[in-house]
Amino acid sequence: MSYSDYARAFMRQNPDVLMIGEVRDEATTQIALRAAQMGHVVLTTLHTRDAPSAIARLITLGAETSLIASAMLGILSQRLLRRVCTHCAEPDRPDPKVMARLPNIPKDAGFLRGRGCAHCLKSGYRGQVGVFELMHFDDDLRTKSLGGVDVKWADDVTFDRLYDDAIAKAARGVTSLEEVLRVVPLPREAS
Ligand SMILES: [Zn+2]
Repeated sequence: MSYSDYARAFMRQNPDVLMIGEVRDEATTQIALRAAQMGHVVLTTLHTRDAPSAIARLITLGAETSLIASAMLGILSQRLLRRVCTHCAEPDRPDPKVMARLPNIPKDAGFLRGRGCAHCLKSGYRGQVGVFELMHFDDDLRTKSLGGVDVKWADDVTFDRLYDDAIAKAARGVTSLEEVLRVVPLPREAS
């Protein structure tokens, strides 16, 4: 059985919630969207750069923009950042030139970096922390997302970006500024 065969078989059970591990082909995309339109809560994952790009990805998988806009409840994007090692953390003084380019840095920011020790195998990092951005689909976002593949429409949408969550966690010393710059896409105004 293919992935979409399984999804079709599950649909016959009339589930309240359908969890599809990953949408990666046209057949599964169609089933996921049809199920969502019929009132089932569908949870699934996609590999994309950020939350708005999930719309573009679904369109390249053959979904109609209007169907996506009407069926979507929300998109949560996440990435993992390394945590600063608590055994060797020390205050970090980032380059002012770098800081000047970065928006939304909290005023009371206390950046930390790991010096490197036996606990973190000299890397300065130990463990990981998730950073998130959530696009909740209300009427406004439904209309704007009809903009489709060119996700410039997302510039006009207010939501907490991956960058904002990441910079807030770096400002509390959970992760380092260097790690944020390595992993998280910068807001358009900073790049
Ligand atoms: Zn350490």
